[in-house]
Amino acid sequence: MSAKDTTRHPCFNKDSAGSCGRVHLPVAPKCNIQCNYCNRKYDCVNESRPGVTSGVLKPFQAAEYMEKVLEKEPRITVAGIAGPGDPFANPAETLETMRLLNEHHPELLFCLSSNGMGILPYLDDIAELGVSHVTITISAVDPAIGAKIYAWVKDGNVVYRGEKGAEILLDRQLAAIKGLKERGITVKVNSIVIPGVNDHHIVEVAKVCASLGADIQNMIPLKPTADTPFAHIPEPGRETVLPLRKEAGVHIEQMTHCKRCRADAVGLLGNDQSASLCGTLQACSRLKPLEAKMARPFVAVATREGLLVNQHLGEAGAFQIWGESESGGFRLVEERPAPQAGCGPKRWAELAAVLKDCRAVLCAAVGETPRMLLEEHGIECHAVDGFIEDALRYVFEGGDINALKVRRSGIGSGCAGGGAGCG
Ligand code: SF4
Repeated sequence: MSAKDTTRHPCFNKDSAGSCGRVHLPVAPKCNIQCNYCNRKYDCVNESRPGVTSGVLKPFQAAEYMEKVLEKEPRITVAGIAGPGDPFANPAETLETMRLLNEHHPELLFCLSSNGMGILPYLDDIAELGVSHVTITISAVDPAIGAKIYAWVKDGNVVYRGEKGAEILLDRQLAAIKGLKERGITVKVNSIVIPGVNDHHIVEVAKVCASLGADIQNMIPLKPTADTPFAHIPEPGRETVLPLRKEAGVHIEQMTHCKRCRADAVGLLGNDQSASLCGTLQACSRLKPLEAKMARPFVAVATREGLLVNQHLGEAGAFQIWGESESGGFRLVEERPAPQAGCGPKRWAELAAVLKDCRAVLCAAVGETPRMLLEEHGIECHAVDGFIEDALRYVFEGGDINALKVRRSGIGSGCAGGGAGCG
């Protein structure tokens, strides 16, 4: 990978803010924590703050949107993901978007903005995909103060509240700074200044993060938002923030030109174009995968004996390929071997190629990553129970296939697969 010019990030280098722009790709709708100042609502182009976007994109739509943005604003040098939730509450979408960007625009700088809760398992992926800048939002380094800022923190399927939740989050955030720096990634710490809650503590945040190697701190004054627990706290002015920046600046460089951008911000920092590109973003959010338009006469089935849909996508060593029969009903066309297990997302790209003439795949269970990747290639994934012929009828003749859907949530604890996995 050729070295990128990291000075061309307008947020990390004020001197480039007049000539280099950024685009936020809103591919991450879910969040894994709840901050007491956050209210993620969509579709308000007049509102500028993180968490707000005019639409959510799938990775292939984000790649298409990127092309259109670059046509209209070639000064964009940075592509980032900053929500509207958290990139690592949506890791499959985040990594696939970065992969597509890296494939089509390796010259761009890639940037991620996260609360740090879910980032640790993906540090190597981030580095391999060429992400050069990561922002972690840390507003407290004391769980007693963190407990006032976060309503809850979700770790897997468990929700933690109070100091326990704040402590888990803090551990992950500090480990994230360390891990990112070990991989040579530039780290910015965003700290929300919340009067009466953490303003007396924010210099301590600077000290701790600097000691772990963070490069720059960005103190963001709280923007009181309706329908949140902090709606009544007044926005701190310059008289509050400037002395804090001065004091913290002894420990870590301070950012002074942040615009509190939306999750779909685009353009130069001083000339945001998210309002004028809102229609383009919304049009991209309605795009269908290109491949969906190709002729797809068949349906792939994960089955052990050819009668029932009863294999998980990841454990199927081969797929039966079914089509419509000229005499009515359905016919088995052939059996196709599945790609080798254990090659991560590459395995699903290979499976999409193997099934390129299939409009759908029927299986007993499927993970989120393979579902997303196959659907991007125009192959619907249905996790269903019952006879193959019944399910084929729904796919070929229409109707609500939900009637056959497997009644367990996902393939987590309830997974009864053979252990080959969907990874
Ligand atoms: S919110 Fe601040 S740091 Fe993030 S893109 Fe906007 S100016 Fe840069």
